[in-house]
Amino acid sequence: MLIGVLIELEAEVLDKIFTYSVPIHLNDKVKLGVRVHVPFGYQKLEGFVVKTNVSNNSDYEIKDIIDVIDDIPIINKELMSIGKYISDTCLCKLITAYQAMLPSAYKAKIKNEFKIKTIKYIKLNKDIVEINQYIEDNKRAKKQIEILNCLKNTEMIEKTIFDNTVVKKLVDKGLITIIEKEVDRFKINNILEKKNITLTDKQQNVANEIINHLDNNITYLLHGVTGSGKTEVYIEIIKEVLKNGKDALMLVPEISLTPQMVSRFTNVFGDNIAVLHSGLSNVEKYDEYRKIINRKVNIVIGARSAVFAPLSKLGVIIIDEEHTSSYKQDNYPRYHAIDIAKFRSKYNTCPLILGSATPSLESYARAKKGVYKLLELKTRVGMSVLPKINIIDMKEENKQKYSIFSKILIESIKDRLNKKEQVILLLNRRGYSTFITCKNCGYTHKCPNCDISLTYHKTNDMMRCHYCGYSANLLKVCPECGSSEIKDLGYGTEKVEEELNKLFYARIVRMDVDTTSKKGSHEKIIKDFKEEKYDILLGTQMIAKGLDFPKVSLVGVINADTSLNIPDYRSSENTYQLLSQVAGRAGRSDLKGEVIIQTFNPDHYSILLTKTHDYELFYNKEMPIRKMLKYPPYYYITIVRILSKDYKEGSIEATKVKNYIKNNISDSSIVLGPTTAFMFKLNNIYRFQCIIKYKKDDKLLKTLKTLVNHYKLNKLIRIEIDNNPNKL
Ligand code: ADP
Ligand code: ZN
Ligand code: ZN
Repeated sequence: MLIGVLIELEAEVLDKIFTYSVPIHLNDKVKLGVRVHVPFGYQKLEGFVVKTNVSNNSDYEIKDIIDVIDDIPIINKELMSIGKYISDTCLCKLITAYQAMLPSAYKAKIKNEFKIKTIKYIKLNKDIVEINQYIEDNKRAKKQIEILNCLKNTEMIEKTIFDNTVVKKLVDKGLITIIEKEVDRFKINNILEKKNITLTDKQQNVANEIINHLDNNITYLLHGVTGSGKTEVYIEIIKEVLKNGKDALMLVPEISLTPQMVSRFTNVFGDNIAVLHSGLSNVEKYDEYRKIINRKVNIVIGARSAVFAPLSKLGVIIIDEEHTSSYKQDNYPRYHAIDIAKFRSKYNTCPLILGSATPSLESYARAKKGVYKLLELKTRVGMSVLPKINIIDMKEENKQKYSIFSKILIESIKDRLNKKEQVILLLNRRGYSTFITCKNCGYTHKCPNCDISLTYHKTNDMMRCHYCGYSANLLKVCPECGSSEIKDLGYGTEKVEEELNKLFYARIVRMDVDTTSKKGSHEKIIKDFKEEKYDILLGTQMIAKGLDFPKVSLVGVINADTSLNIPDYRSSENTYQLLSQVAGRAGRSDLKGEVIIQTFNPDHYSILLTKTHDYELFYNKEMPIRKMLKYPPYYYITIVRILSKDYKEGSIEATKVKNYIKNNISDSSIVLGPTTAFMFKLNNIYRFQCIIKYKKDDKLLKTLKTLVNHYKLNKLIRIEIDNNPNKL
């Protein structure tokens, strides 16, 4: 038999499928979607079987494949079509799409060292009577008898705890056998107590609405305020899906959220769950993924890339906190998990549930138009009510004396500490200070590779670039004027932590990228805070979403302007969402919640409107602005970026690109630019961009495809296509 094998070759501009023959003894093992080893030049490479029964129409000598790697196809039929969809819409090679869909252990790479981990056990091989007889007859074999006696009381024991030679003797005599069992290297660390929950009528109604249509591919938008019990609704629906013999896929936005979510799920579904997110090591992912392929589990919980989990009988897909930007992959290929989920919902004829307290404007607009079915939970569960929100004008506060904290925030924190309640503080900026500048000449220490100032990290006394990882020593004198009057301005979580320690006698824990880089560290912080080992949790946006701490009665936002000041059409939406989400962490039980938001823009609608907890008000305010400026959801946006190490070359080609696009798309579409992209210089690469706004444009995709192919052979220029970008 001849087959087509897809191999990843960096140098290849287009996908090329290579023909190989299958030796007879491998015939049964070759299936569509399995990986095979093939000879390629002098190398041995891995590739995916993408065609079987190919006819021979080449003059080349056809070689045999070397062997077959997988028993079960890694890329099943559904994943094959998803790959095709990604390659068509994100304009990438098919092999690039496949590789992006798979965890590293299952990619087709040259070297693969992933192995199953097993543990050996011993167990009795004869019945008790015979064993007793043996013991009776061999009274002097003390060590053998010890093992046999142990095994009489239990089914099996790990082999390594006994002496190897003694075990061997018993095996040789046929009294015991050795068995080998696969182990999961990822252990779910349940951090929650079991709660028995009966849904409220409102929750049950929402659940029923979906349960009654489980064999439709409807997309639902579940808009429920924070603490309305969306997660319990998801659980109810999944129970029903499992009853029907089907599988469930649940996406959560941040790995910081998975420990709580996974714990809530294991309390209901036991170990019928595989977990997939970037906090797992490669071997852990390998084990979790294998459970899915081998159909050992019916539920997958994970972050963005879990949307590709090869569950074979998908019965529901849930995307929690659907507005979160991390659902969009921000490097090549730039797919959006919601798009993939829609594809799979259609493919499997099952519902897709998008849940959020603050949906993206796009999703809410679709729900209003009836493209999605809108379901609402407008109140919190039980006695808990939405927290009271105070907005503090920091211009006024700072008139007398500069301080990071307003008087009222300090007083409120003291009050909660006295009452033994907990506090969450948000500052969406990590590091110690945001930049270092010379008081004499105004020089700012910037990253030499990127277009941004370096951040000072006091913990290791270094200046760091948050974009490319560059680091440098803290300047002692100004390199421009020699002055030693160097000042740090702005503040990040490290500095706030330091200030808090000066102000309060409290146990404080900081959660940001820097304190959670170690494996399991975010789990530990969440668990410890839940167990009240800390009074104050200070963190970046990773603490804003989803977390459920009943003892938290105060949430403080140190600086609400961090996201507002980013020049982007979405900055109001992002600000409103972030503030509403973090506010939602307060008062989630019978303790009354309060929120204090510090800002220099107290009159900005994205801050003011959080007060009423009425998303609709924000939506109605923001939509006309989007309409006027021709932004989503009224227009779709695609960005074409022109990247080059050479400034001049980049700038010339960017203009050519713009003209080409303009001449080859619909007249009703708009092309802006070329301009410099956000982070104009990143990692020593200059980034120009054109922005395309369109409602419907049949010519666009083909034009972009031609463009991408045209530049593929150009060594100086790279083209990047970003549909529905997170940032402009
Ligand atoms: P959301 O995801 O909408 O923010 P959660 O599902 O986290 O809300 O629910 C908030 C809190 O209320 C959780 O502690 C949850 O266990 C509890 N809860 C939700 N529904 C019920 C219910 N029907 N009965 C009792 N407690 C509930
Ligand atoms: Zn200077
Ligand atoms: Zn940099």
